[in-house]
Amino acid sequence: MSSLNSVNVDPAEIEKFSALASKWWDPTSEFKPLHAINPLRLSWILEHTGPLAGKKVLDVGCGGGILTEAMATHKADVTGIDLAEKSLKVARLHSLESGVPVNYQMISAEAHAAEAAGQYDVVTCMEMLEHVPDPASIIRACSTLVRPGGWVFFSTLNRNPKSFLFAIVGAEYVLKLLPTGTHTYSSFIKPHELARSAREAGLSNLDLRGLEYNPLSQHYWLSRNTSVNYLLATRKEA
Ligand code: SAH
Repeated sequence: MSSLNSVNVDPAEIEKFSALASKWWDPTSEFKPLHAINPLRLSWILEHTGPLAGKKVLDVGCGGGILTEAMATHKADVTGIDLAEKSLKVARLHSLESGVPVNYQMISAEAHAAEAAGQYDVVTCMEMLEHVPDPASIIRACSTLVRPGGWVFFSTLNRNPKSFLFAIVGAEYVLKLLPTGTHTYSSFIKPHELARSAREAGLSNLDLRGLEYNPLSQHYWLSRNTSVNYLLATRKEA
């Protein structure tokens, strides 16, 4: 089992999520945005992978299991990994209550890659790369974990003045969608940086989508505008 002494983890980040762990499944809580975008990202994943039934899926940085459980509802054989123990406890309890089986483990992506190379058909790593010291190392681990021809999906925040204004000032200070300090601007990742790290890890970039939000209608949708939030679909070269 991995511990917080693992190289590629920021304990302050893990502490942030642990402090909120009891709220993961409260759709009105700090995690409301993740609940709101979940159907969108799930259907985008399914567009690429086709039916998940019977597929082996790994969710890296799964938190309380919002996406993890949704993929398991589609009858995938899903594993969720994270380094926040409290979040994993909440995730396990929720899975017991809902009767949707998920295998949750406290292990780093890198340590799991050393024991389960090529074992997954699909790997997801959503809203997580902007919380780790070395995102390229997570991307390489995801690539190691997926089989040749399998899919890896990422989502994160772009880095530019607009994303600073929307994702930090707007979301944390004005709209108070997220707790102050949730995101650190310098950890945001430009799409071409993510794409390059993916390519260097042997993943071909297939679909880049923006995720937009209208604070008046509180509506989210996928678009071509990747200036703030975005998702990248990649496939492991055969
Ligand atoms: N992927 C989930 C949760 C996103 S929140 C979703 O989109 O619904 C970010 C998650 O990344 C938190 O659960 C946090 O504990 C986790 N995390 C942060 N650093 C990590 C690391 N180095 N290894 C694994 N998980 C990490």
